[in-house]
Formats: sequence, C-alpha cells, structure tokens
Amino acid sequence: MQLSDINKVGNKTIINLNKLGIYNIDDLVTYYPYRFEIIKRSDMNTIKIGDKIIIDGVIETSPNVYYYNRRKNVMSFRINIESRIIVISIYNRAFLKNKLNIGSTTTVRGKYISLNKIVATDISLGALSDESKVEVIYHESSKINSKEINNYINETLESYCAKDYIPEYLRKKYGFISKIEALKEIHKPTSSNKLKQSINMLKYEELFLFMLKINRLRISRNKVDGLKRSIDKRLVDEFINTLPFKLTEDQLKSVDDIYNDLTSNKRMNRLIEGDVGSGKTIVAFISLYINHLSGYQGVLMAPTEVLANQHYNNIKKFMNINIEILTGSTKSKDKKDILKRLKNKEIDILIGTHSLFSDDVIYNNLGLVITDEQHRFGVNQRASLKNKGITPDILYLSATPIPRTYALTIYGDMDISIINTVPNGKKEIITILKKNSDIKDVLTMMLEELKKKHQIYVIAPLAEDSDSSDLESVNALSDKMNKALGKVANIGIMCGKMDTNDKDNVMNKFKNKEIDILVSTTVIEVGVDVENATMIVIFDAERFGLSTLHQLRGRVGRNTLQSYCILVSDKDTERLNIMVNTNNGFKISEEDFKLRGSGDLFGVKQSGDMNFKLANIKRDFKLLLKAKEDSLEYLNSNDYNSDIINILDNSYNLD
Ligand code: ADP
Ligand code: MG
Repeated sequence: MQLSDINKVGNKTIINLNKLGIYNIDDLVTYYPYRFEIIKRSDMNTIKIGDKIIIDGVIETSPNVYYYNRRKNVMSFRINIESRIIVISIYNRAFLKNKLNIGSTTTVRGKYISLNKIVATDISLGALSDESKVEVIYHESSKINSKEINNYINETLESYCAKDYIPEYLRKKYGFISKIEALKEIHKPTSSNKLKQSINMLKYEELFLFMLKINRLRISRNKVDGLKRSIDKRLVDEFINTLPFKLTEDQLKSVDDIYNDLTSNKRMNRLIEGDVGSGKTIVAFISLYINHLSGYQGVLMAPTEVLANQHYNNIKKFMNINIEILTGSTKSKDKKDILKRLKNKEIDILIGTHSLFSDDVIYNNLGLVITDEQHRFGVNQRASLKNKGITPDILYLSATPIPRTYALTIYGDMDISIINTVPNGKKEIITILKKNSDIKDVLTMMLEELKKKHQIYVIAPLAEDSDSSDLESVNALSDKMNKALGKVANIGIMCGKMDTNDKDNVMNKFKNKEIDILVSTTVIEVGVDVENATMIVIFDAERFGLSTLHQLRGRVGRNTLQSYCILVSDKDTERLNIMVNTNNGFKISEEDFKLRGSGDLFGVKQSGDMNFKLANIKRDFKLLLKAKEDSLEYLNSNDYNSDIINILDNSYNLD
C-alpha cells in the first residue's frame, strides 16, 4: 500500500505529507499524536467562569449574524441546556447559520466567559455522546490539519500489515497487545487504560530495537581481535613527565584505561567524557603517542578545520615525530604528497577533518582512530575508514556531559572514562546576566578586560535562517563594537561561511593578540583554546540551548586568569540563571535534559542514532533499562529471529 492509495490523497496532499516528514505509510502510521484530549460533557452545575467547556443543548433562537471589517462576522444564538438558557457567540461561522434550526440539538465547544455566556471555538450539529471520548491531536501544518491526518491514518490502519518486532516470549512476559492493536488504539483511543498499554508497548519496541543495536555492536566488537601490542609503560610515563603540566587524577586514570585497552588483545572502543576544559585533548595526544610507540599510525579527527589546525599546531609542541594535517582545504599538490607518504608509512600521525574519511586516503597500518567532539559525527562516517584489513582501536572524545547512568546505557557499546575534575588552579568562570538596556555596563566590563591586555569573544545573535545572514549578524555587531571600542581594540570577525584560509588567518591573529575582540558565530563553540581570552559576551543568549551556552562559555577560563561570561538577554531569565548558578556541565546537562528532553542535548539526533518517536530517554529510563536487559538476554539466547536483526541498520557495523 502507498500513500496515494488512501482516499482523497493526491499529489498535492502527498507533498504536504512529505513536509511533515511522512514519505510512506510506515511513516504515516507512526506519525503519533503529541497530545490526547479527553472530551467529557461539562457539568453546568459546577462550571466556573473562565472554564473551557464542551456541552450540548437545544437551539432556542435562530442565529443573528453581525458583519464587521469586511470579511469578519460574529454570530450569536441561544440554546437551552438542562432548562438554562445560554447565549452562544462564535466568530466567522456565518456559513453555518442556515443549519442551526430552532429545536435541533447542537454541540458547542468553547469558553464560559460570563454568567450564561459561552464564546464558542467550534460548533457541530447533533448531541454529544454520553461516554467521554479521547481526541487525538497531531502536529499539523497550514495545509493539513489534525483531523485529516487522523482520517488518513485510520483508513490506512484498516488494511495495514504491522510488523511485530518484540519476540513472542517477551510479548507474553509483559502482556503486550499486538502491534496493530496498539497502533489502532493510539490513533483512535477506546479507553485510557488501553491507550496507556499501547503507548507503553510502542515505546518499549523502540527502546528494545535501539538496545538490540547497541548490544549487538558490543558483541560483534568482542568477537573481533584487536591489535596485539606490547608497549613499555616506562616510555609512556617518561613522555608524561615531559609535559608542561601535571596531569589530573582523572586524566591519568583515562590514560591508564587507554593503555590497558591498547595492550589487551580486545579491540578498544572507548569514550572519554569530560566537561569543557577538563583537558581531554592531552589525553588524546598521549594515546596517539602510545599508539606510535607500538609502531602504528594514528589519526585524530576534528569536527571543524579551525579545531584541526589547533590540534595540529599543539601536538607538534609535544612530540617530535612525523605529523601532518589533511583537511578540505589542503592544496591538491600537498594532498597528493601526504597520501603517498601516508601509504609508505612516512607519516606517523594525521590530523584532520572529514577528509580523513575520503576514499583515496589509504593508511599503511592504522592503529588508532580518535574522534574529537564525538557527537558531531554520525555513525556512518565513523565507520568508513579505509584501512587495508586492520581493525584499528577507536577512541571518542565527547564534551557533552551526560549523567553516567544514561551514558552507560545509550553508549552501551563503548567503554567509558570520565574526566570530572578540571585541572588545578583554574578559577571558576563568573557568569553575569545583563539586559539589553544595560549595554553600557557590558561595555565597561569589556573595557576593564582590554585594559588588562586580555582578549574577548563576542557571540552574535543566531541568525534565523541561512549562513549568509549569520555573516550579516556578525558584521552588524562588529560595527557596533567598532563604534564603542574601536579606539582601544582591534576587532576581528569569524563566521562559518568564511573560507578556511580567512578563518585560519583570523584565528592566528587572535592567538597572536593582533585581534583583541573576536566577533563570531558559534563556529568557535567547540574546542577552540586561546588562553588569554578571559571574557565571552553572548548576545540574545536566550536563543541558544544551555549546552551550547556552556560550550561557548568553555572558550574562556582556560588557565589561571579570572574569566567572565556575560549573557545579554531580556527573556528566559529562569533558564539562563542556571548558567549563572553553575559551571558544572553535568548539572547543566541535567537541567537541559529536564527542559528539552534528550535529543538536542546529546547531539545524537544529528547522527540519527536515536530517533525515538514516542520514547524519551529520561522519562522512560526504567523501560530503557528493561529493554537493555531483555535485548542482551535475547541476543545471548542464540535463537533470535533474523528478520528482526535484518531491520537493524547495518550502518552500525564498525568494521
Ligand atoms: P577540553 O577537555 O575542553 O577539550 P582541553 O583539552 O582543550 O579541554 O584543555 C583545556 C586547557 O587546559 C588547555 O589549554 C590545556 O592545555 C590545559 N590543560 C589540560 N590538562 C591540564 C593539566 N593537567 N593542568 C593544567 N592545564 C591543563
Ligand atoms: Mg576539546
């Protein structure tokens, strides 16, 4: 069956359905309502002014229509409800006038606005049925309304063949109804009890399939032999002793975890989770060094060129081996040379962006792949490294602090090292919330920092749509900054649309203190590290998610200087105050979690790993844990149904 087989669905409607993300009937029947409204006749004896009501009554007078403003009208008439006369008014329904005959019954929905008066939002002919009814409400568009969506779905479900993915024995264990029953119930509820059961079952199915993927990944990883290496621990310690600072305990613990992984014959698949500024980069560098000691090549992949360049310039300070950088803007002549040397093992470590994945990049003996800011890459991309048959160890760095219990589950295919402590001597960043009208205060604070020869980031408001308007937003703000502070400060700009050379130039100038104030978009959100920058001013801060704000704030406070984050906003004070009150990323992620659910926070939506339609990682965490156990048991039972496995996305295969 196809969308076009549905009654009244033609090409136009299909386009409109596509806009809602519905491309086939499977999409359609899993386009779930986001809200259920219980409809029950209001009791006229207990009703209070201001209440929303739904009621039926007999029409007493024929409607009067009053036209105004050319196309607008308001109609009013009286109805008799249990011997009480109520005046009904409704806007712009003059076309119903002739159907509202004296003596017939009508159902009215609206608000009880004053004694014996209802302003209706909806009227329909006929009486209200006696039982209470549940109405389903979908996200609609200007072209398709909730009712139409519901009609299409209900028609489809009459002949829809629903696949049950939950194995029979689990179905029995939980007393689940069948999938088709559950789908029918959720789109056309018959009782609140059965509706609850259905939602629960559909959520469980989503979570079960997800955990099945994760657990299957874990199992298949354990089957693959890792590289066998022998590495003298003393050489690692010696290297650590050459670093300009003392590693924190958590950093040392992470290095230990990695050393143990690399020297075991199990393949490493580890996630390092740590708050902004906790010092994950150096752990990555040490890992690359350990990998090099055992004779293998290593790569470090960053989500942006700015970050790749920074890593490249940094790592060269710490070790004197053959290190190269490869990004989208590497000149083709240089690239050719790099590829040749890479193949001949004349390069030990390659730093870069997505380019490290392109088909023509062939390693001689790749032993370690590190992905910085892990959440920015999809699983597919992570999987496509060409490597002449070797299965490299894998390390991810993630700056999205997810509470440990959740991390262990949703990243269940990985081992996790957590860096909780921030390096010694760092001062807490002071965060201040300011109104737009207090811009003078903000400028004064900026001036104070400039006097101390410190540098400042200024983040421009988020443009509403395209990147080019991002540039406008940055330019407009930089003009303002020039007017206010141009005499005492050099101002530079940075935005995603600029070409890479320009970006590098600006970044280098900022690092070399030729630029004092960098006006930027969120391109500097991840990883950028300039120690002398001690203030970040974020305009229209309410437009950003808390995790983004926390990441942005992490651009300052990178050494022992006192740093400041100034949020400029007139709105959403309560949420922004969370930023004022804590510097702890794990706490902020908890709060963000509460406010926005899971998707955005983890950034996993982008990688498509967790597109739950009904389930929510936090709200349904208990169910997720059940699904985790059940899926493991199922996979271990050895008689699992290959149909279920087939639908698991094969992009999850890391080899
Ligand atoms: P993130 O975890 O956000 O990626 P970085 O790795 O960029 O953080 O580290 C932040 C800053 O802290 C860098 O300037 C780094 O050199 C410094 N740093 C890292 N570890 C230590 C340490 N143990 N002691 C002092 N400074 C450190
Ligand atoms: Mg980093």
